[in-house]
Amino acid sequence: MFFPIDPGADASLGGMAATRCSGTNAVRYGTMRDNVLALKVVLANGEVISTARRAKKSSAGYDLTRLMIGSEGTLGIITELTLRLSGIPEAISSGICPFPSVEAACNATILAIQSGIPVARIELLDALQVKACNAYSNLTLPETPMLFLEFHGTEASVAEQSQRFGEIAGELGGGPFDWATRAEDRTRLWQARHDAYWAARRLRPGTQALSSDVCVPISRLAECVTATQRDAAESRFIAPIVGHVGDGNFHMLLMVDLADPDEIKRAEALLERLVDRALAMDGTCTGEHGIGQGKMKYLAAEHGEPALAAMRAIKRALDPLDIFNPGKIISL
Ligand SMILES: Cc1cc2nc3c(=O)[nH]c(=O)nc-3n(C[C@H](O)[C@H](O)[C@H](O)COP(=O)(O)OP(=O)(O)OC[C@H]3O[C@@H](n4cnc5c(N)ncnc54)[C@H](O)[C@@H]3O)c2cc1C
Repeated sequence: MFFPIDPGADASLGGMAATRCSGTNAVRYGTMRDNVLALKVVLANGEVISTARRAKKSSAGYDLTRLMIGSEGTLGIITELTLRLSGIPEAISSGICPFPSVEAACNATILAIQSGIPVARIELLDALQVKACNAYSNLTLPETPMLFLEFHGTEASVAEQSQRFGEIAGELGGGPFDWATRAEDRTRLWQARHDAYWAARRLRPGTQALSSDVCVPISRLAECVTATQRDAAESRFIAPIVGHVGDGNFHMLLMVDLADPDEIKRAEALLERLVDRALAMDGTCTGEHGIGQGKMKYLAAEHGEPALAAMRAIKRALDPLDIFNPGKIISL
């Protein structure tokens, strides 16, 4: 068995649940929301509650598990988790596929998902990020937009999935789709994907990397990513993009010189436009990193004031003295 959530960081299970994190496997296995069955939580009044039992489904009362997942430590402290594990697939194949444009890569993703190929991972790296990975991980990938993919199943089914994806990529001007079932080849590629953040930071040494993510309906993904790339270039930033594109989710990493007030202003404006763009496409201001303090200002635009008032009422009811992460997500 294995636990499929892979947040790309050395995270604790409590932190992963608290941020409702996901990562590269979510397109097939879901997020923390889908992979936590029950929690034990210490409330602000000192009571310890169990949010659910091990039954696969239940319609007994409010779903406190889902309330706590993504609450970013503002409603209680998670001390125990009951997790759903998945079977390790009999066969895994991985592949990389170059595309002439980000749009073609996104469209191949959409088509693959719409055709029912059960991709386990489908990750976009834009040309800048591929360049960064080549330098950091000693690779020689063509420096164009690239999809990294993984298929899980039996030997026969992963071969079929890979072949079908290769055909889709070809229809959209992408390819060749190189795929490998050898564990060492797979590990090398995915390690490079895992190190994407550190690779990107080397693109502009001495600056701070500001990472932001948004998530949009997958049908709007190509449009959102290309508009964001254009915006970053016009704002004169080095800003590689990586995306869990099967979910319509992508991250922009902005290298910012924090000693330059003008640059900080431009970066803030660019990040605001990124969120505005995602919301205008019926997306969300964060697919996985959470609200914290930095994105509190977008919550009203995303959910509306009445929903925010409901969140405040929950916070007041469970933590009337505001002792758990005060000033995060919503301010009382
Ligand atoms: C390089 C990098 C790459 C990342 N990539 C991804 C990605 O691809 N996908 C993704 O989803 N996320 C990604 N993340 C974010 C990552 O998921 C979160 O940072 C992580 O899940 C937080 O867990 P943590 O244990 O580090 O928690 P912390 O950072 O310690 O805490 C995070 C929040 O959770 C609260 N918290 C922590 N533990 C508990 C607990 N036991 N009970 C209640 N509240 C608690 C804290 O108060 C805080 O508000 C990335 C982060 C980094 C640094």
